[in-house]
Amino acid sequence: MPLKIDMHVHTCYSKDGLTTLTDLINQLRKRGLNGAAITDHDTIEGAEKILKNCDNDLLIIPGIETSTKHGHLLGINITTPIPKGLSIKEAIERIHDAGGISIAAHPYALFKDGVKLNPKIIDSGLDAIEVVNSSFFPFLPLTYLSKKFAVRYRMPQTAGSDSHIPETIGSAYTIIENDEASVDDIIEAIRKGLTQVWFLKMV
Ligand SMILES: [Zn+2]
Ligand SMILES: [Zn+2]
Repeated sequence: MPLKIDMHVHTCYSKDGLTTLTDLINQLRKRGLNGAAITDHDTIEGAEKILKNCDNDLLIIPGIETSTKHGHLLGINITTPIPKGLSIKEAIERIHDAGGISIAAHPYALFKDGVKLNPKIIDSGLDAIEVVNSSFFPFLPLTYLSKKFAVRYRMPQTAGSDSHIPETIGSAYTIIENDEASVDDIIEAIRKGLTQVWFLKMV
């Protein structure tokens, strides 16, 4: 069975998030997911707490959703906070220095401060594009546009729910074929573009 990882989840450590760390674990289990990336707005506090307290079989990847000058950027597999207000290029550099990968969050999304995709952003070292975000609005056109860009520029693709409440966790996820993958293997698979994206019908 391939692994299913929700690559974009907020907890109550985001100002607008309601999900407690216990809710998160329970919901991942209920949905049959193998893990999630914790991507709170401009903080890694929740991710740190869950990693310290979580002795279970789930793959929890620490991360952040950093508010750059040019829109929201996910920093995945980092344990160092990334300051907000940087340019995309600076934020990508900081994420790389921290050993992580950068993913353009909900590209083009109007009310969510999505990054506008262009070839320059790829030159800045962007690692992947979140082509499915459950809270995309309008969902299908934005998914189509993001996917089209990713395919055209051969960029790795991820999917995440962008949940701020427990019920929507797992409504979109990234699929990794290697069912014995560790967190590092998952990051490597994303880097190499060895992922598939999936979403459930709206919850
Ligand atoms: Zn966002
Ligand atoms: Zn988000």
